[in-house]
Amino acid sequence: MANSKYEYVRSFEQPDILLANTWIVVRIDGRGFSKLTTKYKFVKPNDRRALDLMNAAAEAVMKELPDLVLAYGNSDEYSFVFHKDCVLFERRASKLTSTIVSTFTSYYTFLWPKYFPASPLTPPLPSFDGRAVCYPSDRNLRDYMSWRQVDCHINNLYNTTFWALVQKGGLDGRTAEQELAGTVSSDKNEILFSRFGINYNNEPEIFKKGSVMYRDFSPPSTLSSPMPPTSAISPTPISHPRPMSQPLTSSILPRELLTSSDPSTPR
Ligand code: ATP
Ligand code: ATP
Ligand code: MG
Ligand code: MG
Ligand code: MG
Ligand code: MG
Repeated sequence: MANSKYEYVRSFEQPDILLANTWIVVRIDGRGFSKLTTKYKFVKPNDRRALDLMNAAAEAVMKELPDLVLAYGNSDEYSFVFHKDCVLFERRASKLTSTIVSTFTSYYTFLWPKYFPASPLTPPLPSFDGRAVCYPSDRNLRDYMSWRQVDCHINNLYNTTFWALVQKGGLDGRTAEQELAGTVSSDKNEILFSRFGINYNNEPEIFKKGSVMYRDFSPPSTLSSPMPPTSAISPTPISHPRPMSQPLTSSILPRELLTSSDPSTPR
């Protein structure tokens, strides 16, 4: 093992220890899910089974990694937040990211038959990429979450309008895309309402805002000295994470996001 003549190759490894005392967010995203959703005939624009599967896989990840405190997901992506105090894998980015990605992917494929019993998986199998980013302040973390949630909103409004034009309006994809080019949120709301009788506000919350789950912490009652606010959230699990398909109303994610001024058109 140690001290063989080959041992020197270890020195080629690059250090990737993430900055101490920062929130670590690992975001994963499905690879080529545009194709995958077509292959398995996902209901467009939102297949509830697929969202439930994403949430189930994320919940399993939260249960296996007690250092995780929060997770937010929409579409084919999920963001997992490690606590500032986390020292798992000495905070090595590649270890944290690869463990999240592989655990999530394993559960996604394992749980697939439960959500898509009539569509067995065949190669190429679902896979995910991942990255780790540090956020130094609570404000940064909150803004990160807001950024992902705004992305969910922008994409969902676009997709809802696009698929209404195609499914209810009889347009082909190309024409629908052209029709939506250059439109802002209010235009899309108007198209949905005046042409299809759809009030976007009445769309399911899980489609408009995504899903959040968090570890429920309560400060240990045996504490003798007062703790600063962040330390009060200890990385010890107190209860199981809770999957929520509700608006993100926690202190981290502001509800007023969705009434804020018009976001730009999606990618
Ligand atoms: P990449 O590998 O670059 O991520 P991608 O095809 O996965 O490519 P994304 O930008 O991640 O591109 O988009 C995800 C695609 O999967 C979108 O088209 C989105 O509408 C679709 N999708 C994800 N979840 C669902 C769902 N629950 N129901 C219907 N479509 C979904
Ligand atoms: P870590 O998470 O730190 O990697 P680990 O338990 O996976 O912890 P490793 O050093 O990777 O530790 O060791 C892998 C273990 O799995 C060893 O105990 C090894 O003997 C066992 N193992 C791996 N493959 C086989 C195999 N094919 N048959 C029997 N045992 C195996
Ligand atoms: Mg991607
Ligand atoms: Mg993707
Ligand atoms: Mg995506
Ligand atoms: Mg091992």
